[in-house]
Amino acid sequence: MSRPKPNILVTGTPGVGKTTFCEALAAASSLEHLEVSKMVREKRLYREWDDELDCSIFDEEMVQDALEPLLESGGCVVDFHSSSFLDESLVDLVVVLRVDTSTLYDRLEKRHYPESKVKQNVEAEIFQSCLDEAREVFEEADIQIWEMPHDTEEHMEEALERVLPFPQRTMCLQKK
Ligand code: ADP
Ligand code: MN
Ligand code: MN
Repeated sequence: MSRPKPNILVTGTPGVGKTTFCEALAAASSLEHLEVSKMVREKRLYREWDDELDCSIFDEEMVQDALEPLLESGGCVVDFHSSSFLDESLVDLVVVLRVDTSTLYDRLEKRHYPESKVKQNVEAEIFQSCLDEAREVFEEADIQIWEMPHDTEEHMEEALERVLPFPQRTMCLQKK
């Protein structure tokens, strides 16, 4: 790894709390939070629209092009539900947040997602789609994947305590 600071990918089904966790992580470290779904919206990194779910279908190449220069400098927390299109050489640690079905259902209802979108995401969580997607790319490359529960405030505290030392540790290893 030639980056001065590592990049951490935080992934998981919409509603597991990625953005909440990444904001807290960035606030407590010198890492920069990249909220990819917001970048997709603001920079229009999509060519297609899903009428049924009423949302954009991000374009992998456009997102890659937007992210790669940022990740090359290191020190980023990438907040996104999808990861298989990322270049594994740009990621140093993967965090997969997980929640119980009932937690996710409640959170997505509160977001006023249409029923079909709630159902699709709850199913994705049950089938651990995001975890499997991350494994497909990063397991092969020997990048650590930390799966962590994120139903409660306590869970978030525990996850922060575990992740926060990672950048420091990685920098120390590099200096040797
Ligand atoms: P994502 O970015 O994965 O879609 P968000 O960070 O937007 O998820 O969180 C979805 C909802 O869940 C928000 O209302 C947030 O306040 C709540 N939430 C997130 N993490 C936790 C947690 N660890 N404990 C309790 N509520 C949480
Ligand atoms: Mn989010
Ligand atoms: Mn590669």
